[in-house]
Amino acid sequence: MTQTSNHYLSWIDVDKELHCELLDPSKDTVTIGRTALADIEVFNTSVSRKHVVLSWSNGCLTIKDLNSSFGTWIENTRLSSGENKSLKADTEIRLGNLSMWYEIRDGDASQEMMQTCFHTPKANNDIELSSEINNFRVKLQSLLKENLGDNTLNIQLINGINEELLKLAESQEHRLKEQRILNSISHVLNRSLTLSELLKTALNLVSKVLNADRGFVMLRNSDNGKNEILAKRYFDDIYWSENNDTPQQFSQSLVNRCYEQNKIVIIGDSQLMTNITDILDVKSGGGRSLVIIPLVQDANVIGVIYLDNKQQPHNFDSEQIPFLTTYAAHTSIALHNTLLFKRAITDDLTQLFTRQHIDEGLAIEIKNAQLHNHDLSIIILDLDHFKQINDNYGHTTGDQVLQLFSGIIKDHLRDNDMAGRFGGEEFVVILPDTTINDAKNISECIRMAIEKECITKDDQSIQVTVSIGVASYNKKHGTKALLLLDDADTALYQAKENGRNQTICFS
Ligand code: GH3
Ligand code: MG
Ligand code: MG
Repeated sequence: MTQTSNHYLSWIDVDKELHCELLDPSKDTVTIGRTALADIEVFNTSVSRKHVVLSWSNGCLTIKDLNSSFGTWIENTRLSSGENKSLKADTEIRLGNLSMWYEIRDGDASQEMMQTCFHTPKANNDIELSSEINNFRVKLQSLLKENLGDNTLNIQLINGINEELLKLAESQEHRLKEQRILNSISHVLNRSLTLSELLKTALNLVSKVLNADRGFVMLRNSDNGKNEILAKRYFDDIYWSENNDTPQQFSQSLVNRCYEQNKIVIIGDSQLMTNITDILDVKSGGGRSLVIIPLVQDANVIGVIYLDNKQQPHNFDSEQIPFLTTYAAHTSIALHNTLLFKRAITDDLTQLFTRQHIDEGLAIEIKNAQLHNHDLSIIILDLDHFKQINDNYGHTTGDQVLQLFSGIIKDHLRDNDMAGRFGGEEFVVILPDTTINDAKNISECIRMAIEKECITKDDQSIQVTVSIGVASYNKKHGTKALLLLDDADTALYQAKENGRNQTICFS
């Protein structure tokens, strides 16, 4: 796979147009401001003429405020003047009151899609369509005036027709705008996204379009039926409680109603709804107006998007239902694809990545390490005498040990690490930006954690240990992942030879 990372900045302007800018790492700096002199021009009165500058340092993006009047905020914290802050993927950036978000996506096919998105489809047809109605209106008006004469009754009739046509042009304009937003949304959501990226992006987009203050996405886990909040925007400390009616910032009963009825739920003013008792009043953190949108798969609701506006009553209304229905359909399809993809790259038993996905991930990390001169280490872990565990305690217990061990590996991963099952009782972990010594420390933590674990079966305690081989990327590997894997495998073999239950680094 030949993938590179692309960096994007996206925002929705006052006309509710979605913009996506592809950032070019070969340009050292990028200024953003409300003037054509800035590299990225945005139209928003709270943005200064030259508001911020973005610059690249070792492939990472940093941001600096240029003494703007209304300030720059990174995830709710204001940048102090002169401060250079590095940006992580999926960070929300606020220039004055304009929210933007920074994303890093894999390159390849999404490139072409982004071009369409970049020049947001302000399609010429849209302008023509509503202006056609307007031209017709003006022509008809003069025709009627010429032919009907100007007595009061006729003037009233002409004005009446004029007004109807104006309304028609306006609603047409509105519908076309919604259509443009939906097109953009479907482009964005159809980029290859991980589940959390998808949910966060879908939530960001709809929140901005609908002027929502806060929101979250909840999915129902198909294995255990539990509701899980997987993405949040400005909703702190919320959780789903199974048997608790204590009022919260959001209403569980309304979420349940959305699940049961498979319909969009809109509450114009929660303050007036005395029958909803499980939401806090506005002063204590409940939302004033809210909307709950079902996400549907095969006619079943698999999750919901919940949005509110804290102060404004009737921020959402039933006229938005056609838009929301299409938005929900787009999001549901993207979610379905993402879940299918997730299933394809996940090992059923351990919920770690499959071998194929690890191979692809390693190829990308090797390219990055080579390009940017970054450290990269991998570890291969193989449970000791695992066959005996199966033989002595049965295959089911063996499976449970594999699951337990995978959980221990996961507990030791950092954000950018990737762990996979390479087959049987053998695992691989990719550790980007990690020296061989740090990789050894992580390996030792995992090794000691499984060694200490008390596993019992029929009152007998089962001792499980693991042998680990560690290797680091160096130039001699070129772009060949197999050579790096071979090094780690050689080290693992030595660990087995030396008596197992130990970590050996390839040298
Ligand atoms: P060593 O210390 O040399 O690694 O010995 P070992 O017994 O762990 O290695 P060996 O390769 O001889 O045996 C691996 C065993 O792992 C054999 C196989 O039955 C078992 N195994 C492979 N996949 C699974 C699985 O999905 N579930 C269970 N329970 N066992 C598995
Ligand atoms: Mg083994
Ligand atoms: Mg093995």
